[in-house]
Amino acid sequence: MTGTVKAVIFDRAGTATDNGGFAPIESIVESIAALQRQGIKTAFTTVCSAAMMERLLSQDRGCPPDFTISSGQVPGGRSVPFMIWQNLMHFGIEDPREAIMVGDTTACIAAGIKADCWTVAVIMNSPEPGLPCADVAALSGSEAAECQNAARARFYRAGADYIIDDMDELVGVVADINRKLRQSSARKLLTPGPLSTRHSVKHAMLTDHCTWDDEYKAITRSVLDDLTRLAANDDYATVLLQGSGSYAVEAMINCLCAEDEKILFLVNGAYGRRMLTIAENSGRHYEQLAFDATRPVDPGALERKLVEDPDIATVVFVHCETTTGVINPLEELTRLAKAHGRKVLVDAMSSFAAYEIDMPGLDIDALASSANKCLEGLPGLAFVIAKRMLLEECRSRSLSHSLDLHDQYRGLYADGGKFRFTSPTNILLALRQALDEYKKEGGLEARRQRYRENHRIIVQGLEELGIRPIVTAPHQSYIITTFALGDLDFAELYAALKAGGFIIYPGKLTSQPTFRLGHIGDVYPEDMRALVALLAEYLRARPSRAQTC
Ligand SMILES: *Cc1c(COP(=O)(O)O)cnc(C)c1O
Repeated sequence: MTGTVKAVIFDRAGTATDNGGFAPIESIVESIAALQRQGIKTAFTTVCSAAMMERLLSQDRGCPPDFTISSGQVPGGRSVPFMIWQNLMHFGIEDPREAIMVGDTTACIAAGIKADCWTVAVIMNSPEPGLPCADVAALSGSEAAECQNAARARFYRAGADYIIDDMDELVGVVADINRKLRQSSARKLLTPGPLSTRHSVKHAMLTDHCTWDDEYKAITRSVLDDLTRLAANDDYATVLLQGSGSYAVEAMINCLCAEDEKILFLVNGAYGRRMLTIAENSGRHYEQLAFDATRPVDPGALERKLVEDPDIATVVFVHCETTTGVINPLEELTRLAKAHGRKVLVDAMSSFAAYEIDMPGLDIDALASSANKCLEGLPGLAFVIAKRMLLEECRSRSLSHSLDLHDQYRGLYADGGKFRFTSPTNILLALRQALDEYKKEGGLEARRQRYRENHRIIVQGLEELGIRPIVTAPHQSYIITTFALGDLDFAELYAALKAGGFIIYPGKLTSQPTFRLGHIGDVYPEDMRALVALLAEYLRARPSRAQTC
């Protein structure tokens, strides 16, 4: 929503002269003129009284600012944000990120930070106490440099967003802030992770913690408990791992299957194939049953295979194949494998928290997922939920120390919530918040309802535009949908939708050109409708452009 810089507020715009006059800082006068030419409002905050300021400005030959406020008009002076607030109210600016506080003292930088404006510290002529920079012209070259370095260090410590040597750099700073505002303008990610997340989730990251801190360990334990409870009971435990989802899949396969055990992978997409690579690289004894990527895994084929090959000890499959959005029949596949006495491991990366997964009820041995899919957290943490018995058993089995589930499990449980190695503390705090948001929304029921509705609107909307999903309706998940690209150019489509505030996802099928739209994350039915409208607009505009070239 944030737009562009609308106001620049200058603290200390000049100095009172000995004869009661006012000497504006010449470079500020020039900056004001340049900013006003760009349509940006300018203001002074000052410690001079309002009456004095008025008198001074009336005799000023330069460009007067659009507004002036005196510290006497608000409580607290220049180190509190009230003068800035008055400025924002005067200009009708609702978002403080559309305003910049410019000054040469740490007090006004502190006020700018409290007001949540951008802050720009100016070294030249800074009157910071103890730094004689005000008289910089009178200093020798090395004295001046020393003084300016000291000022820079103070402003850095104060937390200024920008530190400039001289006011003439200000116009460049404004351009850079405008670029940042454009870049961070609201956009919706229709990708299946990383995805759009709530402000509260990102905001939760602002506290620094260390891995061994008791408070942090308590938060970690609460996350472990909540994750376990989403799909299982006390016979299970959650092992969080640093890294993306694949780290958890790799740890699950390599730690929860014994070296000599034969693994059967059911593969109908890229994530299934990724598991084959994991098994191959670690020298596992495995086989695969491969299926068409646009179809779910066939339970009949699994059953025949299990009957035929008694050596298979473990069956592994992906629940929602994010490659295409096909949802595999988790319950049926699990029941079959279990009826034949086999272990079941599930890649539930993109389905966890959006589909019901009753681990104890189905007797699923383990699943892997991550923070940045349907839990709507941030990337950097993955997890395995597994039967405690299996986690206890797999001691010293892992070929990888970092991905040793048993060792990590010991650390997290026996050591009261401690990660063995550096944990992504801020990402964990975000996950804690994401779990709270999940509850707040209404848990599984509410979340899947929203995703279903997102999915329905997208599929129906695109169908009306002649763009069809490549997976038939009963096998589509409400996580992500793959559409035939037809004669559309992906790069062009991507750019057009990005310009309209949506990030879409390329297809991953080799057989035909496709693109994908995710339905998960902090996105809502109205976003889906907006996307459909944008796409319709893009398609309408296309033929006319083709004619002109
Ligand atoms: C996202 C995802 C993964 C993990 O991928 P990373 O890039 O490692 O996060 C694994 N399996 C499925 C089905 C996924 O959707």
